[in-house]
Amino acid sequence: MTQRTDVVVIGGGQSGLAAGYHLRRLGIEHVILDAQTAPGGAWQHTWGSLRLFSPAEYSSLPGRLMPVQPGQTYPDAGHVVDYLADYEKRYELPVRHGVSVKAVHRDGTLLRVATDCGDWRARAVVSATGTWTRPYLPAVPGRLEYTGRQLHTVRYQDPAEFAGQRVIIVGGGNSGAQIAADLAHARVNTTWVTQRPPRYLADDIDGRALFDHATARRRALDAGRTDTGGVASLGDIVAVPPVRAARDAGLLTAKPMFSRLTAAGVQWTDGTVAEVDAVIWCTGFRPELAHLAALRLRGSRGRIATVGTRALAEPRLHLLGYGDWTGPASATLIGVGRPARDAAREIADLLRP
Ligand code: FAD
Repeated sequence: MTQRTDVVVIGGGQSGLAAGYHLRRLGIEHVILDAQTAPGGAWQHTWGSLRLFSPAEYSSLPGRLMPVQPGQTYPDAGHVVDYLADYEKRYELPVRHGVSVKAVHRDGTLLRVATDCGDWRARAVVSATGTWTRPYLPAVPGRLEYTGRQLHTVRYQDPAEFAGQRVIIVGGGNSGAQIAADLAHARVNTTWVTQRPPRYLADDIDGRALFDHATARRRALDAGRTDTGGVASLGDIVAVPPVRAARDAGLLTAKPMFSRLTAAGVQWTDGTVAEVDAVIWCTGFRPELAHLAALRLRGSRGRIATVGTRALAEPRLHLLGYGDWTGPASATLIGVGRPARDAAREIADLLRP
């Protein structure tokens, strides 16, 4: 069965909902197809102790402030899921949960969106599928030789499952620091390794400053001024309270990255070895773009060239929320609102007779 609408939004996480909010405001008929059976996107799957790196009011989608979580300056993931579920309902966004998009094809003047329960034909598509479903693991020698447990950030849930074990955490970003702190607070035997010494943002800087920096950068670029550099120039790790506490207690000392895995553990270039029961790879993500393969748009580094959110070689397609290449801070709760609005406006222009 093939259904028709003006716009199909693929993905019903925060990015898809922000797109839906702006499409609805402009009166554009659309549907949001989301593979998850419940609202909340990737936030449904993160580990229990995760804290946002910004306070609630700085983690809001367009139209509705995230309420403060009682007793928490930095809300947890469960609070974000509740907020997104309420957002979806409050704005009556047409989300179809449990629908997985398999491919997008060109079909004359339309785009055909093939799903696991029928096709849609649309005049424009917004892809907002996030990165959570494409965890990245670096090619480190010996990875297949190692006989212990290996897991990526996406599979980490709770320190209790590592009680009594020796665990190595790889990665100097927020996930690595938060998971290392989580395990260290639970007194798990933890080694944290990073490619370069950890770069903490100043303790009084959090996601608010990152957002302000990204905004200032966008303004500078728009005005043709010198690039002030991405948020990475400020540091890699927001010192949210559990991370700060672990660091200040001396529980978060990072070692350099090891050079290889062995059957029983890891080995550094100087020959030092450590036996470990588990390796947790906090090594990032790649954009989930497999459903767009048939459009043949991917260029270097697996990205699709865009002007703002619009695919350069396919003006009926917009990309939202994957990172800075689809708009400054667009992969954050507060940052996705603006590119979502711009995408909706461009789509309105495209649809105008
Ligand atoms: P997602 O939340 O991943 O939503 C995408 C949706 O699309 C999912 O429901 C998925 O199932 C669905 N989907 C995927 N493929 C298909 C398909 N083919 N068909 C149909 N549906 C599909 N941001 C902040 O603002 N503050 C923070 O503190 C913060 N902390 C973070 C901590 C971690 C560990 C990570 C990984 C990210 C963090 N982020 C944070 C960044 C960002 O806000 C999240 O990654 C967020 O989940 C991105 O939202 P999204 O809607 O783009 O993607």
